Formats: sequence, C-alpha cells, structure tokens
Amino acid sequence: MAPQESGIQTKSLYNVVFVLGPPGSGKGTQCAKIQNGFGFVHLSAGDLLREERMRAGSQFGELIEKHIREGTIVPVEITCKLLENAMLASGDAKGYLIDGFPRNRDNLDGWNREMGDKTKVHFTLYLSCPLDLCVERCLHRGQGRTDDNEESIKKRIVTYNDQTFPIIQHYEKLNMVREIHADSKSVDEVYAEIEKLFNDAGFH
Ligand code: UDP
Ligand code: MG
Repeated sequence: MAPQESGIQTKSLYNVVFVLGPPGSGKGTQCAKIQNGFGFVHLSAGDLLREERMRAGSQFGELIEKHIREGTIVPVEITCKLLENAMLASGDAKGYLIDGFPRNRDNLDGWNREMGDKTKVHFTLYLSCPLDLCVERCLHRGQGRTDDNEESIKKRIVTYNDQTFPIIQHYEKLNMVREIHADSKSVDEVYAEIEKLFNDAGFH
C-alpha cells in the first residue's frame, strides 16, 4: 500500500446520531435503551441545559430558564459547547446519541461550524408521533419539569413545527433520516424497531 502523503495521523471522528421528534415522542426513553444496547453515550441537549441552569455560578441560568419556559431555543453557542464538553468528558465511546438537537437552523449552522470537522453524523433518528398524544404524555409524565404545563407545551409544539421539523426535512433531503413511528406501540416494541435499524447500520 502506498504511504500516506502526509505523515500526520488523523484523529478518528466521533460517531454521532441525532435523535429528533416532538416533545414527548420518547427520545429520552429510547436513547437510554440504545445506550444500554449499543454502547452509545446518550447526551440530551435539554438535560445538559437544565444542568447548566442549576449550576452555581452559571452566567446562563436565567437565560436558559426563560427559553425553556417559553419553549424557545437557546443560542447555539451555549448548547453546542455543553454538548462538546460532555462528549469530551465521556471519553471514548462507540458513538454519541445527541437527543433533542439540532432544533433549528441556528443550531444546525453552529454545529456544522464548531463540530463538523470533529464528528461524523451517520443519520437522524426521527421518532414520529401524533402531537395530541405527545401533549398527553408530557402532561402526565410527572418529571416536575417547569415546561411540562399546558401553556409551555403549546409553545414547544409551535417551535417544533416551525423550526425543528424543517431540520428533519433538511436531513431527509440528504437521505439521512430514519423514521420510527413512536405512537400506539409499547416502549419495547418501538425499541425493537430501533434495534433493527442500528444493527442494519452496522452498530453491533
Ligand atoms: N432546548 C434548547 N436547545 C436544545 C435542546 C433544548 O434550547 O438543543 C430547550 C428548549 O427550550 C426546549 C427545552 O430545552 O423546549 C426542553 O428540551 P428537551 O429536549 O428536554 O425537551 P423534550 O423534547 O425532550 O420534551
Ligand atoms: Mg427529552
């Protein structure tokens, strides 16, 4: 085999799968199962923001809380840095499931700018689910979230429709969306389909 032209050893890229879908579609639940089943690290952008909001001395706490309650989207500089730090802190992993991100064009552009050269995004797992069912699930999941009330949920759905769904469509055009119907079936039935998808993608 011919020697490489440059003697520089290229560091391998982080494998990434984005996980998107409406609020309450089961992203967190399914990511926990994929993490167990496939050795991926699950990073929820929402959870990282909630952690940062609670961190003593954070200069972003108030701003994050305002966005979360209003169902609007935190500037990508904050979210992307939290994701990158969490990836670095979790050490070597087969891959990273990035749950609930990128949520809008700003997120997508920021990710491509900051992380494009360090990561390989394999596909976007899209958990589709009728919105009325999603609202029901959020109202009854009892996680004590400040945005699981009717008013915030309505706003989150508007943001999802206006800003996040176009990101899914963007990846669809690149043939990078793998859709799983996450309604009416049990958690385990949904996971069985995801398991097949990840196996087929070569993530054994
Ligand atoms: N959020 C954000 N950027 C992200 C992820 C979340 O600004 O990349 C904020 C946004 O206000 C969102 C809230 O955090 O409504 C909750 O997000 P999470 O993903 O936890 O909600 P889920 O979709 O799981 O219900
Ligand atoms: Mg979640």
